Amino acid sequence: MKSIRLREGKERSLLRRHPWVFQGSVAKGSADAGETVRVEADDGRFLAWGSFSPTSMIRVRAWSFDEAERIDAAFFERRIATAMALRRRLPVASDGLRLVHGEADGLPGLIVDRYADVLSAQFLSAGTERWKATIADALLAATGCTRLYERSDSGVRGLEGLAPVKGWLRGADEDAGATEVTIREHDWRLTVDVEQGHKTGFYLDQRDNRARFAQLVRHFGVQRVLNCYCYTGGFTIAALAGGAAQVTSVDSSAPALERARAHVTLNGFDAARASFADADVNAFLREQLKAGASFDAIVLDPPKFAPSAAHAERAARAYKDINRLALKLLAPGGLLFTFSCSGGVGAELFHKIVAGAGLDAEVDGVLLDRLAGACDHPTTICFPEGEYLKGLVILKKA
Ligand code: SAH
Repeated sequence: MKSIRLREGKERSLLRRHPWVFQGSVAKGSADAGETVRVEADDGRFLAWGSFSPTSMIRVRAWSFDEAERIDAAFFERRIATAMALRRRLPVASDGLRLVHGEADGLPGLIVDRYADVLSAQFLSAGTERWKATIADALLAATGCTRLYERSDSGVRGLEGLAPVKGWLRGADEDAGATEVTIREHDWRLTVDVEQGHKTGFYLDQRDNRARFAQLVRHFGVQRVLNCYCYTGGFTIAALAGGAAQVTSVDSSAPALERARAHVTLNGFDAARASFADADVNAFLREQLKAGASFDAIVLDPPKFAPSAAHAERAARAYKDINRLALKLLAPGGLLFTFSCSGGVGAELFHKIVAGAGLDAEVDGVLLDRLAGACDHPTTICFPEGEYLKGLVILKKA
């Protein structure tokens, strides 16, 4: 077993159960990509078992802080069993759920979503790449699923020196080509294409926030809704279910809009209540303002504007701009659901950005709710970096 010796004082974060070792913390030692290493303090004390990643800034990701634990097939079976046991206890109102959420489930670099009877996974680190076959077998055995689609086509693989990979990892021979799955979220039916969809196919992290939106649309008797960055229309369906009369949904992806449109009829709503625009949201909001339009509720759920803290400033301007436009477009007494999924923009900064947007728009409002990702995307106490999705619910002054 190879050892990685840390520089003096650099043991602190592992001692606090934080699973990352940065390149600059390593004093000596090396290993192959994904190889299991013993990480030790400068005095030789055991700190963690981890997987080595020769090209990544995150040089080691900890698998375990227990010296007696062996990193083998049984280890992955135990971690997957623990992740699934947690999900069974959590209130998840869907058969689409996140089974493994990386670091939060003690499996750094592994994302596994379950869509009904299909698994869709991302292997994002050298360690998960090396153990891929073992992990795949353990996932099938634990879930009873027979099909596992691999969506390791995320850009972050490049940082690990890994090429993008996409395709059936297990079950390719069954029902060849059937990459579309229907899930039931709350009382709704939604289709997911694990091959063409974003990430593993769908934004499961917004599940609870979609339900909250439906509830508040009903509570306030919201009539005209604008759903910006609608993807396949999750918030569109929520708005219709909440009783909205007219829902306008905007996205720049034509296939996503097509699926959103199909979801309206799939859920039994009159297609005349929904309209769709293939447009850039910022430009669309400006046009609507110019045209004197107004809405009773607006959802802003943009893509990640800041992949890391380094991009926070430019991202802040982009967030502020769309929030300012949305606050202006809202009718008095209107409802804003505004989100950021940028890890580099914390909850406090996001609040400040939206406050700045309100000042510029000369709009005040009541902060009704603070939102986060759904509970099957847990944030753990030892790994606050895992927190990425944050949202504010604002009721504009009447
Ligand atoms: N709210 C959605 C998820 C949104 S993901 C849900 O509940 O499922 C972000 C979406 O923004 C993606 O669908 C992407 O296609 C879209 N997008 C990215 N940049 C855009 C832009 N400039 N204008 C419009 N849509 C954009």
